[in-house]
Formats: sequence, C-alpha cells, structure tokens
Amino acid sequence: MSVGSVIGVIGAGQLGRMLALAGTRLGARFAFYEDVPSSTSQTLGALYHQDQLDAFIDAVDVVTFESENTPVALVDYISARKPVMPNAKALFTAQHRGREKTLFRRLGIETAPFMIVNSLAELQDAVKTIGLPAVLKTTTEGYDGKGQAVLRTVDDIESAWVRIGNRELILEGFVTFARELSIIAARRVAGDVVFYPLVENTHVDGILRLTIAPAVNLTDALTQQAQAAIQSIMTELDYVGILALELFDTPNGLVANEMAPRVHNSGHWSQDGAWTDQFENHCRALLGLPLGDAGMEVPVAAMINLIGDLGDWQSVLKIPHAAVHLYDKAPRAGRKLGHINLTANDRETLQSRIKQIVQ
Ligand code: AMP
Repeated sequence: MSVGSVIGVIGAGQLGRMLALAGTRLGARFAFYEDVPSSTSQTLGALYHQDQLDAFIDAVDVVTFESENTPVALVDYISARKPVMPNAKALFTAQHRGREKTLFRRLGIETAPFMIVNSLAELQDAVKTIGLPAVLKTTTEGYDGKGQAVLRTVDDIESAWVRIGNRELILEGFVTFARELSIIAARRVAGDVVFYPLVENTHVDGILRLTIAPAVNLTDALTQQAQAAIQSIMTELDYVGILALELFDTPNGLVANEMAPRVHNSGHWSQDGAWTDQFENHCRALLGLPLGDAGMEVPVAAMINLIGDLGDWQSVLKIPHAAVHLYDKAPRAGRKLGHINLTANDRETLQSRIKQIVQ
C-alpha cells in the first residue's frame, strides 16, 4: 500500500489510539468507527458514528478492530467492500471460549478440560465429569476476570449459576500453574511471522497489572512450544495482524487459556523495549509492509498498568528509562487509564524501578 493509505479501526479506545500513533509514523492515516462516543482517539483521525458506517467504509483502505467483542455481522458487512484484518473467522473463533478451546484441541494445543453448559442441571453433570476445583466462565464477553467464578465445593455450584448463569457458560478444569505467560506474534498475508518474546503477566483483581519481558527462566523448549502453538493458530485462521495467546506455565508444559485477535495489553512494553512495537507491526501487516524485528532492543522491560487513577505520573517521568503512556480517559474504578514502560540492563535494576512505582 502507498503512503497515505487509510486504516479504519472499529473502536476508538486506547488500542486504536496507539495503533494510530504507530501507523502515522509510516505515513498511514486513520479513521475510527464507534457506537459510543469516546475522546480517546478523536485527535488522531476522523471519527465516524453508528449512522455513518457506509461513509467510514468509503473512507478507508483496510479495516481492523480493537475488541474481540466487535460484532461478526459488522465485520462481514464491511468485508464485502474492504478487507478486514484479522478476518471474520478469527474474530468468530476468538469471541467464544468454547470455539477457541475446540480450535486449540484440534491443533494439538494443550488446554484445560472444558464443557459448555446451558442449565444448572448441565452444570451439575459437568462438575461430575470435570471435577473440582473448576472455573466457571461466560462463553462470550468475559474480560478482565468478569463473568467468572471458581467452584471449590459442590455448595458453590448453584450460587455461581445464579450469579453469572442463566446464559451459556463454560466449565473449565482448574489449572494449577506456576505463572501466567503470553506470547504475541504478527503475521502477514504472505504467511511470514515474527514472534515477540514470552512475557510474564501478573493480574490484580482479574486485571493485568504488570508484564515482565522476557519472562524469567525461559527455556528453548518453552519458547518453541509457545511459538509453535501461536503459529499453528495463525496458519489455521489465515490470520493477518497481531495475535496474542495467554498461557499457563505448568509442571507439564504450557496450557493455553485464551487468545486475543488484536494488539494486546501484555505487548505494550514493546513500545519501549522491542525493535518494532506491536502496534507498528500490526499496521505493517495490514498495509502489506515487511514486518519489523520483534526482538528486544534492551535486556529487560516491564509494563505497569495505571488502573482507576493515574497516581503521581509526573514524578514517574523523573525515573530513568521510564516512559509514561496516557490514554486521555476520565478516571473510573477499574478503568485502564495509561501504562508505564520501564527498561533496564538487568533484572535487579528493573525490579528497583518497578518498586519505585508499585508499592
Ligand atoms: P480469563 O478471563 O480466562 O483470562 O481468566 C482470568 C484469570 O482467571 C486468568 O488470568 C487466571 O488467573 C484465572 N484462570 C482462568 N482460567 C483458569 C483455569 N482454568 N484454571 C485456573 N485459573 C484460571
């Protein structure tokens, strides 16, 4: 594609904003389509609302989306006129936990045992098959730990069904893991892929709080297992763009939890720690440009999410090798408002910088 190509983004939150910040460097222009007005991306491109869908489609060369909750029907509608990347099949698969785990299984990727349930009776039967403890989740629309319950005893079954049930749910076996990892990769239409290093993620109240890149004590076997898994998913789905795969690290190897068909919070560190960040590589993939090196340009990096309030972010600017990224969003409990990327030459220095920010 040529300079001045217009990337359309469904959604105008922080992910769209950071895509625009990266893609603008490559001479791309941006347009955003969203249902609910948001200020986050409006300074970075034209903003189209629900009644302006056709004008949005006319204005763009290629379309991507910020959220796995983007309606598949919308993507199908747009796809008839302009390419949408990743495609509707990838979106359809990723927006349902049962569909994605079925795909993982078919590709030989380890997952927790799981069963789909539509009633309390089905849930009770599923508990008999899967055993306890187990994790009950909504099949769709769950994020940041919402719509989930851990079942420890049979007494938890009914209350969990009442709390998140009366809809389709998935019961998963409880995975005992040492840590949570994720891998991000970018793929182009031509099929070439670049991999970011495996990173370690720490969640607080179900929301990602801290990412460390690369994860400590990585072995070649772990890296190869993660890369083979994400590559097979991308090949199967004819995937274009950035894909994230969340993994549990267990004594028996990696177990896949879920995937995200988009730029991902656990890849934000790459803005300051990788040769080419995930946002730029997503744009490169959409524009058919060569993918950039996804390796690290520093020995270690971290990302700390700013959740609910920004804290004393101006003081953070004084910390060496700290980069503050703010999304221009109004503070609200549990809302991601920005993140801080830290880089260092060794893990000890990185940890001391993290401690200056996270008490
Ligand atoms: P999810 O929305 O699937 O990413 O789940 C949110 C968090 O719940 C994960 O980051 C894990 O910490 C935990 N979790 C999810 N599924 C399981 C599972 N099957 N076994 C143990 N912990 C889980």
